[in-house]
Formats: sequence, C-alpha cells, structure tokens
Amino acid sequence: MAAEKRILNFIDGVHTPGESGKTFDNIYPADGTRTSVVHEAGAREVDSAVQAARRALKGPWGRMSVEERSQLLYKVADGIMARFDEFVAAEVRDTGKPVTLASHLDIPRGSANFKIFADIVRSHGNEFFEMATPDGTGAFNYALRRPRGVIGVICPWNLPLLLMTWKVGPALACGNTVVVKPSEETPTTATLLGEVMNAAGVPPGVYNVVHGFGPDSAGEFLTRHPGVDAITFTGETATGQEIMKAAAVGVRGVSFELGGKNPALIFADCDFDKMIEGMTRAVFANCGQVCLNTERVYVERPIYERFLEAMKAAVERQKRGDPFDKTTTQGPLVSVGHRQKVLSYYEMAKAEGARVVVGGGVPKMGGALDAGAWIEPTIWTGLPESSRIVREEIFGPCCHVQPFDTEAQALEMANDSPYGLCTTIWSQDISRANRVARAMEVGITWVNCWFLRDLRTPFGGSKRSGIGREGGVHSLEFYTELMNVCVKL
Ligand code: NAD
Repeated sequence: MAAEKRILNFIDGVHTPGESGKTFDNIYPADGTRTSVVHEAGAREVDSAVQAARRALKGPWGRMSVEERSQLLYKVADGIMARFDEFVAAEVRDTGKPVTLASHLDIPRGSANFKIFADIVRSHGNEFFEMATPDGTGAFNYALRRPRGVIGVICPWNLPLLLMTWKVGPALACGNTVVVKPSEETPTTATLLGEVMNAAGVPPGVYNVVHGFGPDSAGEFLTRHPGVDAITFTGETATGQEIMKAAAVGVRGVSFELGGKNPALIFADCDFDKMIEGMTRAVFANCGQVCLNTERVYVERPIYERFLEAMKAAVERQKRGDPFDKTTTQGPLVSVGHRQKVLSYYEMAKAEGARVVVGGGVPKMGGALDAGAWIEPTIWTGLPESSRIVREEIFGPCCHVQPFDTEAQALEMANDSPYGLCTTIWSQDISRANRVARAMEVGITWVNCWFLRDLRTPFGGSKRSGIGREGGVHSLEFYTELMNVCVKL
C-alpha cells in the first residue's frame, strides 16, 4: 500500500513537521475520503517561520536588485506552469472544483500573479519634486519605496493558489518576505509552491508556509507575532475583525479582502442571452464560492419572469459530477461543514415562505459521491429585502431575485447592504450603465460582464467588504513603505 501523503510546513526552505506532532485530515469534498494528513504548526513553528523570514530580509534577498528579484519571480511563475497538472489536481482534490475551472482560472492566474507584479515593480517610477528655498539655492525631493518587512498572509479556501499568490506575488516583488497561513481546507498548493520556490533559487526564508486553523492555532499565532510587520488577509468579515484586533498590537498595517453580498442590476434593454450566460457564471461559478459571486439579483419587471425561466433552464443544464471529468460544470461545496451552513439558509428561505424557482436541497449523486458535500443550485424569489437571505453572505450556489420598476428603486435596494464588494450591471444603454455604476457603493463594477479581470486595476471592497485596494500599482501602497528624501542644493 502506498504511504499516505503528508503535507508539511515549509520553513526556511525546508519541509518541516510540527513539533507537537498534531495533524489534521485533508478531505476530498467530492466523496469525503482523506487525501492527505497535514502537520499543524504550533507557536514554535510559527515563530521559526517568522524568524526565518526576518533573517532572509537581511540576507541575499534583501541585497537583490529589483531586476534580480523580478527574474526570480518569473522563474517561479514558469515553475508553476511546468508542474501545471500537479497543481491542478491538488486544487481539485482540496476544493472539489471542476478541473476545467482549476485549469483555466486558478493555476494560470496563480502563475500570472508573479509575472504581473514583477513587471509592475520594474516599470514603476516614484515621485520627484523640485522646490524653491528662501536662500535661492533650491532643493529637490524624491520618494523611495522600501519593503515593509515580514508580511503575514492569511488565505481562504475558495481560490487557494490564486488568492495566495495575489498577495505573495506583490509582497515578494517589493522585496518583502512572507509567512503564509493557507486555509486548513486547502493546504496543498501553498506547500507545492515551496518546492517551486526552492527549484527557482528563491533564498530560504523568503517564502514560508505554516498550516493550521485560526483561533489558538497557526492563524492566531501568526497574526499576534510581533515579528510580523503587516498582515494581508482574505476571508470572512468576522475573521477580519479578529485579525484587526491582533494587528492593533504594535500598530501593524492591514489589507483586507472580505465578504460580499453582491447585487446584479439587470435592465430590460440588456442583450438577454449574453446576460443569462454571464449571470449563470456570476451566481453559480465555483459552486457560488467566489467572493465576487452575485447573491442578490434585481431585474426590471418587463423581463422578470423570462429571467427566472431562463436561469432555471441554465441551472438544469449544469452538469454535476466527478470534478475530474472535463464536462463537469458543478462540483461539491468545499466541505460538509460548509454545506451545513449553506443548507441552514436553504431551510431559512423555506421557513420564511420564499418561492423556490429551482433547487433547494441535496442531490442524490449515487455511489461514493453521496458522501460528498453536494448541493443543489438554488434560486428564490418573494422574500422582503429585510430577510437574512437577502442581507447575509451565504457563499453557496444560490441567489434571491427581486423585480424593480425604476432605476432609482433598483439602486436603493442594491446599495442597502452592509457589504460593498462588487456589482454587475446589464444594459445596452451605456449612459445609464455608467450612471448606475457611479452610484454604486462598491469597490468593483462590471458592466455587461462579470469577473473580467485586468490585473493592473484596483481590486477591493468598500463598507464591510474590505480595507485597501490591491492590484497593479495599488498593491505597492500596502507592500512598501514610502520614504521621502529631501536634498538641499
Ligand atoms: P475565513 O475567514 O473563515 O478563513 C480565512 C482564513 O483565516 C483561514 O486561513 C482561517 O484559518 C484563518 N483564520 C480564521 N480565524 C482566524 C483568526 N482568528 N486569526 C487568524 N486567522 C484566522 O474565510 P473562508 O471561509 O476561508 O473564506 C470564505 C470567505 O472569504 C467569504 O466570506 C468570502 O467572501 C471571503 N473572500 C473574500 C475575497 C475578496 O477578495 N474580498 C476573496 C475570497 C474570499
């Protein structure tokens, strides 16, 4: 019998088990089987990782030019692509997402995140001001960007490599070192990346990974560690609040990409077929487990019933099944535990008297898959805007659809949310689309598309959906300290 796969922490360039000997299981959500055993990092391993990251700042990494660092990051990006199939399979096994999604989105973007930020730091100039002085000789000022130091990177499970490298890419490009705490649900690709880092020649200690959970485990040990200079986090808003408390000790900076309850505004003059295609992805992609997924849909009344019918038909066309089958479009949720949470909202919707347009339960998969975290994609209507179904992030393949009669009414409902991550607007009237986009209280608006990403653009949420923007040059704001030098002539 083959030895069971073990996932170790990656500290100072070495794959390391935890001293406590504590482990936890990594489960394949499609059938509930264990795929590997993960070694949990205790306070001691987290401390070793932070110390290794601090030492690396003073070593060859700290002395490298921007060009040298950028070249290494290109090698890392190529190293991921050289082991493409392995990364894809790991992501599918950890998350249960369809193999086509991991191949087209997660892994290529995980690689691209290194190249884009290598390019940005190489090409980005800083400000320069000349000034007059009373004695007439003058002076000039220039700004320098320096790495912030050791960055604590705390990641979620929905797009594991993609979201982790979205932070690690710019952090390293700017000359920082990192200690990453991947989600306990998805530890594999972050660990594989350690091998890629070593093969690319990234010095030990620059990239470290500690495994474990949040409270009283690796996550909390990392965010509370005084050797961490700044913390970047993607995950739930409630977790962000806890991490903010930890960051307050030592007045450390935070960058937060948090939850959402994203609205779609659909006007009767939209290109209907393209809209349905876009909305099917916006609601159901990755089984509704993308922070950018739409969970509130507002449809102009003349096309409301037609919209419901077309979306129901789109749901019925989805192919649920083996995530490794290339024709599969819907995998399971990430875990049976997460399904419990999503199902509690399905029950709540029923109790509140929602009309269930489609779905609403657990599908019969047959055979081994019945032990997996499968769930039916679901569309509801008929609930008031005050309902918890309409106000809280569910993070599953579901949405509530509400008709509207005027643009003002649609905007009022769409903006009435504690969250402000993103929106998608569908209309062929470009003036209206722009007017509505500007009135939205969100960080990102898509018009006649959804999740179309140019990595140079600012990404992040307003209200309870985040703090700060990452992406393009905006990432430099968080991953560097800006120092002004004033020189009197
Ligand atoms: P989560 O907040 O439960 O966990 C995220 C990470 O934080 C995990 O690694 C977890 O172990 C760690 N953690 C938990 N408690 C902690 C603590 N007290 N201290 C330190 N670390 C702690 O989120 P999740 O369930 O993994 O991910 C889903 C959430 O992420 C959703 O709310 C989704 O909207 C959000 N998300 C947001 C974005 C964005 O860009 N805005 C992107 C993806 C996901």
